[in-house]
Amino acid sequence: MATAKSPRGDAPRSGVPAQTNIPAEAYTGGPLLVGDPAVGIVQPGSPPAGAPAAGTGQPSGGSALALKRRARRINRALAEQYPYAHAELDFRSPFELLVATVLSAQTTDVTVNLITPLLFARYPDARSMAEADPEELEAIIKPTGFFRAKSRNLMALGTRLVDEFDGVVPGRIEDLVTLPGVGRKTANVVLGNAFGIPGITVDTHFGRLARRFGWTDSDDPVRIESDVAELFEPKDWTMLSHRVVFHGRRVCHSRKPACGACAVANWCPSFGTGETDPAKAAKLLKYELAPGNEELLGKLLAETHRAAEIRMESQRRTP
Ligand code: SF4
Repeated sequence: MATAKSPRGDAPRSGVPAQTNIPAEAYTGGPLLVGDPAVGIVQPGSPPAGAPAAGTGQPSGGSALALKRRARRINRALAEQYPYAHAELDFRSPFELLVATVLSAQTTDVTVNLITPLLFARYPDARSMAEADPEELEAIIKPTGFFRAKSRNLMALGTRLVDEFDGVVPGRIEDLVTLPGVGRKTANVVLGNAFGIPGITVDTHFGRLARRFGWTDSDDPVRIESDVAELFEPKDWTMLSHRVVFHGRRVCHSRKPACGACAVANWCPSFGTGETDPAKAAKLLKYELAPGNEELLGKLLAETHRAAEIRMESQRRTP
């Protein structure tokens, strides 16, 4: 794998993957922080300025401002690494995203995407879901696991939407969290991706990485959400969530993070938690970043470039 050059011109950490050359217009993250004192090369075992003291979640030698600057720098690096980050669940409406997110508990998005075409062909709206035959519904969603509990939740969800919200998924978090099987994580997924309302989605990957980045010291999803919200502009919350989860799935694994092949290694106070040898770390990468998947990565980047070009072209043509 190519060696990265820091986007700000810093010398690269050996083995850190090359940044992608996506046009600046495609970048939707936070502002570039010129003169960021928190940015720099960090040697293994010596955390960067603003790194949290163990167990406090607060910057040790640095200021809260340095922590914020470093967090935004990480977000920018993740935006460059994953310009194609998006909600990995397939959906065409708020109802479909809500149902798919409920189904995604304890399983993968890939598994959910395999069964939702049939599920939504059979139950396209809240009313049909409310009136589903339980055995038929269970049979369709069985591959996602915990299918009896999920089936009960989906039918109760449909009933509640019909009874309380005229069959329409509400666009307020206060209402969403009152629905059966819907917590803040699911509510924020729906708000951020189906309604365009900024939300931070704290799943197991996001929580783990937020702690490793020093953005929080908490295990509590609500605390994590509020700690991270302090560091970023609301407009960045939804895409930040996608990028962090992408990074957790591909690079910063729970047991064996691939530190030696990590695009945010320069700013991560937990560098060294995992494998630091570049060659060994590269073998730990997953999905499109995994060795041998260069063609898939190239395809994803080409599609992203093309989408950015189309957006720019349409903006140019708009009077
Ligand atoms: S892989 Fe290592 S350097 Fe990268 S974010 Fe995770 S802990 Fe930090």
